[in-house]
Amino acid sequence: MARYTGAKCKLCRREGEKLFLKGDRCYTDKCAFERRPTPPGEHGRMRRKPTDYSIQLREKQKVRRMYGVLEGQFRSYFKTAESKKGIAGTNLLMLLEKRIDNVAYRMGFSNSRSQARQLVQHGHFMLNGHKVTVPSIQLKDGDVLEVREGSKNSLVIKEAQEVVARRGVPAWLEVDTTALKGTIKALPVRDDITFPMNEQLIVELYSK
Ligand code: SF4
Repeated sequence: MARYTGAKCKLCRREGEKLFLKGDRCYTDKCAFERRPTPPGEHGRMRRKPTDYSIQLREKQKVRRMYGVLEGQFRSYFKTAESKKGIAGTNLLMLLEKRIDNVAYRMGFSNSRSQARQLVQHGHFMLNGHKVTVPSIQLKDGDVLEVREGSKNSLVIKEAQEVVARRGVPAWLEVDTTALKGTIKALPVRDDITFPMNEQLIVELYSK
């Protein structure tokens, strides 16, 4: 599937916010957004008055880029979210949170979601005892995700484990850092996402 392969830091500058797409680097003074927080491009510094539409669009792009999902798939998550009971915006965020690549990242087995996606695709994880390679799999309550035996010495995973303390593991996950194994203790709820997101703006955008 096609995927964005351009400079990740440009996405943060475009959205005017740190999206933490490059793992540990995002917490250092090497962060491109810290050094140059203006939008990329020749006219990046120009100030334009934002419209309702542009505010909604930027929020959608921010969330989509954070989770590393393409437009078509993001829209299909929204349709699923709308068809479920409850608040569409919250449902949307929960669908994104329950993706296996996001869970691997949240458990501290990778430094970023894009790295987690690659690790899943390359078969470094087992879900409930079976090898998985599809990063969009939705996890459920009680699922067990673990690093495969042959990948436990992976430098990438070891490095990720060393820096996970910076962001912490959310309460809905339980991780055994020695066995490199994690369990979904409970499904995530809206309060588990502490990064500022206004999902209602996304609902308004897609409801036009
Ligand atoms: Fe964004 Fe800074 Fe991380 Fe680059 S280093 S992805 S600008 S937060």
